[in-house]
Amino acid sequence: MVPGVKLVVLGKQGAGKGTQAVALSHHYVVPHIATGDMLRAHVRGGTELGHKAKSIMDSGELLSDEMIIEMVAERLWSADVRARGFVLDGCPRTVHQAKMLAEILDVDELDAALDIEVPTSEVLARLAQRRVCSDCGTNYSIASPPRINWTCDICFGEVVQREDDTEEAIRRRLELYERETEPLIEWYRENELLVKVEGVGSPDNVLRRIIESVEEHRGGRASL
Ligand SMILES: [Zn+2]
Repeated sequence: MVPGVKLVVLGKQGAGKGTQAVALSHHYVVPHIATGDMLRAHVRGGTELGHKAKSIMDSGELLSDEMIIEMVAERLWSADVRARGFVLDGCPRTVHQAKMLAEILDVDELDAALDIEVPTSEVLARLAQRRVCSDCGTNYSIASPPRINWTCDICFGEVVQREDDTEEAIRRRLELYERETEPLIEWYRENELLVKVEGVGSPDNVLRRIIESVEEHRGGRASL
């Protein structure tokens, strides 16, 4: 039986982070915890957190680290996660969040923080192809559209190109991501949890590379 895993997945937009996080959760048979999906579910389900989050986002503000971590913590404490682990996708985004997470989790419990690296030129090409469900946020692309006429396979919502997927907007988001994430990556490196993997190639090849690197990292630490 494949052992479980406790994994944080980092990577800029267009690096294939979501796709790899789902594939890794299948491989290791652990829940895929995607903060974006969780947040949308809270808003749709009209939970207290959902109401609070919606009014903050509607006013153009960002959710506080405390709110995000509270939501993630609730999920991390559930039985399925406790049993085998998780693939965490979308959090932490900052060193502050990473430290808060380490307090809940104890940093030694994490197997690795995975950084999927893809050059900017590749990301720009991928994002120009990207289409997204306007209701549930599922990603598609020109190369892998939904089965029926740009209607979401999962919720039947309309699949569209995001308005902010222009080259200029994408470059701006990538620069912002790098500025914000560099300290986070550095923090995981200092804590000997960082595993960098080249994200160029077919999703299957990238997945194989990731699993090899994670296992190598785990093995290396176990034998210390
Ligand atoms: Zn949908």
